[in-house]
Amino acid sequence: MAFATTAIHAGQEPDSATGAVAVPIYLTSTYAPEGLGRNKGFEYARTSNPTRLALERNLAALEGAKFGYAFASGMAAIDATLRLVKSGEHVVVSDNTYGGTFRLFKRILSNYGVEFDFVDTSDVHNVEAAIKRNTRMVFVETPTNPVMIVTDLKAVSDVAHAAGARIVCDNTFMSPYLQRPLEFGVDIVVHSTTKFLNGHSDGVGGAVVLNHEEDANWIAFVQNSAGAILSPFDSWLVLRGTKTLALRMEQHDKAGRAVAAFLEDHPKVGKIYYPGSPSHPQHELARRQQKGFGSMVSFDVGSLAAARAMLEAVKLCTLAESLGGVETLICHPATMTHASVAPEVRERLGITEGLVRISVGIEDTDDIISDLDQALNAVTSGE
Ligand code: PLP
Repeated sequence: MAFATTAIHAGQEPDSATGAVAVPIYLTSTYAPEGLGRNKGFEYARTSNPTRLALERNLAALEGAKFGYAFASGMAAIDATLRLVKSGEHVVVSDNTYGGTFRLFKRILSNYGVEFDFVDTSDVHNVEAAIKRNTRMVFVETPTNPVMIVTDLKAVSDVAHAAGARIVCDNTFMSPYLQRPLEFGVDIVVHSTTKFLNGHSDGVGGAVVLNHEEDANWIAFVQNSAGAILSPFDSWLVLRGTKTLALRMEQHDKAGRAVAAFLEDHPKVGKIYYPGSPSHPQHELARRQQKGFGSMVSFDVGSLAAARAMLEAVKLCTLAESLGGVETLICHPATMTHASVAPEVRERLGITEGLVRISVGIEDTDDIISDLDQALNAVTSGE
């Protein structure tokens, strides 16, 4: 079945008890068995819940995977995935991940004997060079947040597998509509469902999807043991979101391209970061690996003062962290999403004080562009 059909139907048979077409929100913490040792597939809601299960099946189907697990946030999903790695083992990570991923790895998990090396995974040779005898995982984000570096998933998967390591891809920026990492050899896909999958900026969540049965059993065990589960209500919100994912992503992609083209020609804008732009160094790879370019665009306005002037002048676009909602969100990575990354690392990655990131929404594209134009024109030449 095609993606849009899968999105609407996978995991969502009419409810067996009532025939309800929309999966109900099962607000229960426990389930009565028919007798001792005879339950109906559900015992306790941390372990399993029908609404969450429907979402987990839906997300697995969208990524072309056998197994899916929903977590309380994208970070909880990433944390659970890292439980596949043990003390004394080594992980190679894209050096420009979401700041929260960097913080979890560097400030928390490295206290438990897991070693991390952060490299520019856009060059597969860097991954090859970072592999050590004890490397058990390669963790990539592509395109990266916020400077849109693209990693060749097939090439890096081959290197990881040759070393006997798993490869994990954070597919939050693309969603399975625009990129399906498992098709390139990736073993595990993680998502912040908070973003495009939910799509309406009204819930925080995360997911892990994969094919390998033994690893899937371990993720399920961690989900139940550590308990960072997605609630039934939030599961329902994401399920509702995925029904329109195909339509939304088509429009996000169209609007993203239009906004990037506008910014590229604007005199107040310096460098722009958008894989859809022919000037992006990995434009060809992005064309090959992605079905579209999405709606995340970053651009440099030259200084903190200019970024502040612009961000305080927007009217339709909302100044806020996060991305992937129907509304256009705009933010300042250096002081917002990536504030936890050390200034010298930010500088090296290109996360300058003048960098602005936009998550282009699905409002009328001309309205979005007019708002950006008036906000950029509010930047005076001295700023
Ligand atoms: N991965 C990426 C690429 C993100 O942008 C984010 C959050 O912004 C996360 C993971 C973390 O997700 P959450 O905020 O749902 O924990």
